[in-house]
Amino acid sequence: MLYESTRGSAAPPVVGAATVITAGLAPDGGLYVPRTLPLLPWRDWLEADYDAVAAYILALMLDDLPAADRAAAVAVYGDGRFGAGYPVLLLQAGDLGILELWRGPTAAFKDMALQVLPHLLPAAARRAAAGQKILILTATSGDTGKAALEGFRDVPGTQVCVFYPDGGVSAVQERQMLTTGGGNTFVVGVRGNFDLCQSAVKTAFTSEPLRAALAERGILLSSANSINWGRLLPQIVYYVWAYLEAVRQKCVRPGQPVNFAVPTGNFGNILAGWYARSMGLPLGRLICASNRNHILTDFFHTGLYDTNREFYRTESPSMDILVSSNFERLLYEAGGRDGGKIRRWYAALREYGRFRVEKEVLAACQSVFSSGWADESDCRAVIRRVWQERAYLPDPHTAVAWHVAEQYRAESGDDTYTIVVSTASPFKFAPAVLSAITAAPAPEPFAALAALERETDWPVPAGLRGLENKAARREALLEPGEISAWVEERFARP
Ligand SMILES: *Cc1c(COP(=O)(O)O)cnc(C)c1O
Repeated sequence: MLYESTRGSAAPPVVGAATVITAGLAPDGGLYVPRTLPLLPWRDWLEADYDAVAAYILALMLDDLPAADRAAAVAVYGDGRFGAGYPVLLLQAGDLGILELWRGPTAAFKDMALQVLPHLLPAAARRAAAGQKILILTATSGDTGKAALEGFRDVPGTQVCVFYPDGGVSAVQERQMLTTGGGNTFVVGVRGNFDLCQSAVKTAFTSEPLRAALAERGILLSSANSINWGRLLPQIVYYVWAYLEAVRQKCVRPGQPVNFAVPTGNFGNILAGWYARSMGLPLGRLICASNRNHILTDFFHTGLYDTNREFYRTESPSMDILVSSNFERLLYEAGGRDGGKIRRWYAALREYGRFRVEKEVLAACQSVFSSGWADESDCRAVIRRVWQERAYLPDPHTAVAWHVAEQYRAESGDDTYTIVVSTASPFKFAPAVLSAITAAPAPEPFAALAALERETDWPVPAGLRGLENKAARREALLEPGEISAWVEERFARP
C-alpha cells in the first residue's frame, strides 16, 4: 500500500506505510492518506473474531511491516486489557444502537488505537529509521494524552511527551495523565485552549532546528495524535465489527445500510467510518455531532470553515476544538485529491482564520455526512432521560451524539438503523454526569466518582480507581511559544 500527502508537495511524493507511521506528518505539513482504497470482503467475516478482522485490515494497509509485529499489535484486543469477551460492545436502546468503545485501560475510545500503535510504531521505525530513538509529541484535549502515555509507558526506544491545555481537561483526565509513572513519560501543561496547544505542538513538530538538534542525539520525532495514520487505521476495524454485529443481532440484513452518529472533535473517529464506508462497508449516513464549538456543523451546512468565533469550554472537553486536524483528509478526498487546493485552503486558514470550499466539494461532503450540535442543557437532558428511561449512562460526549442522532432522525425522517458511538466511560466526567441525573450540584471530582457509583450501581472502571492517592508529576507549565525550546532543552541536551 502506498501513501501520499494531502498537500501534494512532499518529497518523495509516494511512500510506504513504515515511513507514514514513523513520521506522523508528511514533510510538506500535509497528512498521509492511502493512494487507493481496497474493498473489504466483509461478507466473509460474519463469523470472524475481532482480532481476525483487525489482522486482515492491518495486513492490507501496513503490508511493509513484519507480520509478527502486526500479530503482536492485534493480540491486544484479546488479551484481557479490554475486558473479557469482545473488546467493544454493541448494545440496543430502543431504535438506537450504542457502540461502546471505552472498555480499554484508560476508559476512552482512544485506547482502541493507542494500545496498538506502541506495537506498530517501533516496528515501523526499525524499517524506516533504523537505530533511532523515537520521541512522541502529542497534544491532547484530555483522552489522547492518557491513552498515549499508557500505551507507550516503558516501551523500549520510545519517549512520550504530552501537552494539555491547563484548565481545559476534566480533573479525572488530568489526574490520569499525571499519575502514569514509567521512565519514559512526560506531561506538560500549556496555558491556553486546546487549539493553541495543538497548533504549538505542530509548530514544534515541524521545527527544523529542533529536529536537527534531536537528530544529533539519534532522536526522531513522531506523533500519537490522529494526524498519524497509525491512529486512524485501527479505528476502521470497529466500524466493520459494529456492522457485522448489527447483522448478527438482526438489526439489519447483510447489505442493508447502517448510520453512525459520532461525537466529533479532531474528526479522527468519524473519518475512520468514512474510510470503512469507502472500502465497501454498507454504511448510510455518517452523522457528525458537535457541542457548542460547532464549526463542523456550520461547515457541513454552508461550506465555510470559519474559526473566527468564540471558543467555549464545555462538559464534553474532548470536543472543544475549532481546528479539526483530520478534516484535511476528508477535504482532500472531497476536493478531488488536489494538493494545490488543500494548500490554498490552509493558507487562507492561517491568514484569515477561514476558508470556503466550492459547491461541488460541499456537495461531495454532504453526500455522506449529516451534522448537528447539542448545547450543554441538551446534553444534560439526554443523560438524565436516557438514565431514567433506559437505565443507561452516557458520558457527555456520547450524550451529544445521542441528541444529534435523535434530532437527525426526527428532522430527516430517515429511519435507517443508527448506532451512537459511545466514546468514554461516564466516570471520566463524573461531576457532570452525576449532577445531570440527580439535578443537584456535584461534589468535587474524586468524591463524584464514588457518589456516581453509589447512585447508579455502575462500577468505577479499574483505571480510574484510587487516582487521588497516586503520586502525580507534571514536568512544566508553559506558554504555547515555549514548547520547542523546552523540548530541545529537555531531550536534546546531554
Ligand atoms: C477524542 C474524543 C472525541 C473526539 O474524537 P475525534 O476523533 O477527535 O473526533 C470524542 N469523545 C471522546 C470521549 C474523546 O476522547
